[in-house]
Amino acid sequence: LTVLGIESSCDDTAAAVVRAALRGEAAEGPGEILSSVVWGQSALHAPFGGVVPEIAARAHAERLDLCVEAALSDAQLTLDDIDAVAATAGPGLIGGVLSGVMTAKGVAFAAGLPFLGVNHLEGHALTPRLTDGLAWPYLLLLVSGGHCQLVSVDGLGEYRRLGGSIDDAPGEAFDKLARHIGLGFPGGPEVERTAASGDARRFALPRPLLDRPGCDMSFSGLKTAARRAADAVAEGRGGLTAQDRADLCAAFQAAVAETLAEKTARAMARFREDHPDAAPVIAVAGGVAANGAIRRSLEAAAAAQGFTMTAPPLKLCTDNAAMIAWAGAERFARGESSGWDLGARPRWPLDETAAPLVGAGR
Ligand code: ATP
Ligand code: FE
Repeated sequence: LTVLGIESSCDDTAAAVVRAALRGEAAEGPGEILSSVVWGQSALHAPFGGVVPEIAARAHAERLDLCVEAALSDAQLTLDDIDAVAATAGPGLIGGVLSGVMTAKGVAFAAGLPFLGVNHLEGHALTPRLTDGLAWPYLLLLVSGGHCQLVSVDGLGEYRRLGGSIDDAPGEAFDKLARHIGLGFPGGPEVERTAASGDARRFALPRPLLDRPGCDMSFSGLKTAARRAADAVAEGRGGLTAQDRADLCAAFQAAVAETLAEKTARAMARFREDHPDAAPVIAVAGGVAANGAIRRSLEAAAAAQGFTMTAPPLKLCTDNAAMIAWAGAERFARGESSGWDLGARPRWPLDETAAPLVGAGR
């Protein structure tokens, strides 16, 4: 089963071809990534310190067909070799999602192939099946620029949210802190680099919601506290020194790492209660999982709970089209496809995908 995937929900224009083995009516991983083209738009948005939806939509529209051509030629295939075309149909910036859905429909219709609209979050959630052939059920921590959730992945379309951020996603908080203290965009990698020479103990930042039971998190208050700490230092000295920035970044990163590890530990305990017979596995996905300090504290939490932690390779942690092609393959193997009238959904919670995919955009 060979699927062409398209991703354009944020600031990466991506296309990929993935091959899945079939066992009965199910796709069996790991899948084979025949090609994966990702054209990042960071440079276009960097002057604005964040993603500008209009610019993103235009760039996607300009580059998507070239991106699809590149993915096919990298895979040394033509559309004759493709069984289905999948595209992110949400959640995301509506202009970009529309560009991808329209491109996918156009390609599929012209080639006489079925089309599938895929939930971007399902793409992230199923990536461990693409990379490692992970079996259901498993616990997933998705931490990215737009999302932060702990999900029990019980089967295809069976996602139970155990908790998550009630306000900002950690990636967004990293990006905003970076912008506030004059670091580049995207902020996450900049903050991590800067934190390397910092002392996390200099600033006492809060761990919001840690004192409350459950797996919900909050990063907005932490972000504000970090900004205030920066302002207080800057005011006294007429600006921040490199050491101020390093210490602040280190303190912020430590607070995020500790919060994520503690809440994830609680989710692991719940997962074990719900699935006493399942192998205890936690998969971590999303761009923030690239952070070494966060990875290490999650690994420690997993080890303490007797869980195995797996994280897809970095390239597949951040936005890409291979994960969309894979999610499309899993859905298509089960006999699903979308109608030509499927729309783009700016919001599309993961735990709602259990509903039939056909017409989901209506
Ligand atoms: P979503 O997938 O939720 O729609 P997104 O596309 O912005 O959001 P990703 O591409 O998965 O998310 O990840 C990008 C985010 O990850 C950015 O906010 C970025 O700052 C953050 N990030 C990337 N590398 C690091 C790092 N080393 N440390 C912390 N954050 C990081
Ligand atoms: Fe994403």
